Amino acid sequence: MTDTREREQIAWFARSIYQRGLTFGSTGNISVRLDDGWLMTPTGSSMGAIDPARISRLDEAGHHVSGDAPTKEAFLHMAMYSERPRTKAIVHLHSTHSVAVSCLCGLDHSNVLPPLTAYHVMRVGKLPLVPYFPPGDPKLANAVRELAARHHAVLLANHGSVVAGASLEDAVYAAEELEETARIFLLLREQDYRPLTAAEVTELKQRFPPTC
Ligand code: ZN
Repeated sequence: MTDTREREQIAWFARSIYQRGLTFGSTGNISVRLDDGWLMTPTGSSMGAIDPARISRLDEAGHHVSGDAPTKEAFLHMAMYSERPRTKAIVHLHSTHSVAVSCLCGLDHSNVLPPLTAYHVMRVGKLPLVPYFPPGDPKLANAVRELAARHHAVLLANHGSVVAGASLEDAVYAAEELEETARIFLLLREQDYRPLTAAEVTELKQRFPPTC
């Protein structure tokens, strides 16, 4: 099966994310589910300069079969996919405002961000906080897996976001929405603000049910 279109799409979105400062250095990674495996951005690569031909290819069992070695955070993606059969793509970012929120004390761990806008509710929804574990610790994958069946977006404490989508486009847009809501939340920290009411949130969820 040809995967040229998916490779080009990954490189295009990765560059777009990088150019807008949503990721930096060699942080952040993207994956896409294929009929017979996965494509994943390589370890140590800048999202600003992904070569479609060198993107890592994994087989159905998650083993690396071609291209450069996959991101060391592949386990985060696989933990999410294992619980979400409809998920087609995952974006993991260390975006500044999302990370800033993930470091705050006094967060509601079952839902980190209030429902400030309709688009946040529609694209991100309830956002739980995954406790902090060092990078690569298997406990981090387990903690993501525990939440992934019920949530397509999670925030890793002192780390960043992991967002799943029914397409790569959906996953990127949701990750961007999360970052923007985190920024607005920080702007409003010292202000009185009106979040959407529970009834308004329920109505949005009924009108726009999750797609992945
Ligand atoms: Zn990370």
